[in-house]
Amino acid sequence: MAANIIDGKAFAATVREKVAGHVARLKEEHGITPGLAVVLVGEDPASEVYVRSKGKQTVEAGMNSFEHKMDADTSEEDLLAVVEKLNNDPSVHGILVQLPLPGHLNEDLIINSIAPEKDVDGFHISNVGLLGTGQKSMVPCTPLGCLMMLRDYHGSLSGMDAVVIGRSNIVGKPMAQLLLGDSCTVTIAHSRTKDLPDVVRRADIVVAAVGRPEMVPGDWIKEGATVIDVGINRIERDGKNKLVGDVDFASAAERAGAITPVPGGVGPMTIACLLANTVTACCRANGLAEPEGLTA
Ligand code: NAD
Repeated sequence: MAANIIDGKAFAATVREKVAGHVARLKEEHGITPGLAVVLVGEDPASEVYVRSKGKQTVEAGMNSFEHKMDADTSEEDLLAVVEKLNNDPSVHGILVQLPLPGHLNEDLIINSIAPEKDVDGFHISNVGLLGTGQKSMVPCTPLGCLMMLRDYHGSLSGMDAVVIGRSNIVGKPMAQLLLGDSCTVTIAHSRTKDLPDVVRRADIVVAAVGRPEMVPGDWIKEGATVIDVGINRIERDGKNKLVGDVDFASAAERAGAITPVPGGVGPMTIACLLANTVTACCRANGLAEPEGLTA
């Protein structure tokens, strides 16, 4: 069986369109322009690319983008002061501190200094707790994007067996919480899991978030399962640089019912969901109805 390809690039474009539609309505009907502030400390080239891309897409959706670039040797005190200023700025509805931060800065302390209602990355401990208890929260962007694609493809996920490979705070754990929230039976697998192939073979939904190129071969995939590949791994093949996922796409596509490619799967959904979270945060801040289909 050849799997259906879940086109994250196209789906992300529809999410961005919905976001832009909501932004236009917020401006027209309420005179409000959602604003996203991104704080970048240091000059990590990958982070600079992400931040540029986030800023560009924020503006394209009709929102205000505020960029705060700070030196690599910025003190914790100075960074906390910037976050505090953004927390108190009514034109800023979403705040994102680009990770990783330079080693001398305490990431947990900084993330937890962001006002939870503006924490569009969903990493603040309050949002983690709200998500874990099934309450309204800001949801981390990458797992939210995965959930949107799964809902779009399946409709209801109720009763499905889902395996999340990886237990990170930014992908694996929130992904598992979201799937549980949609009534899946969820297994979280990780580096110490015994007999990972057997665990994966039982799953109707496999979400791979490990960071190991093509570690999940096709023969681990149950016939007809849906595979969401979060991994982004740079490898060299045939003398060329290539991006591959955590799943061996060619062999998995032979058995899966549906699969996300890398690139062009989960990746584009992450920024689209960041924009969605910013609109959601803006609506909540103004006591307005939240956009449908853009939250968990
Ligand atoms: P991480 O390193 O924080 O976590 C990796 C997890 O994989 C750990 O929980 C670990 O237990 C598990 N693991 C490691 N080796 C394993 C093995 N052999 N078997 C089973 N589990 C194993 O990584 P992360 O931040 O969660 O990211 C995972 C991948 O997703 C990376 O490739 C990253 O680049 C990618 N990612 C993509 C996006 C996106 O926008 N598409 C966003 C975030 C992360």
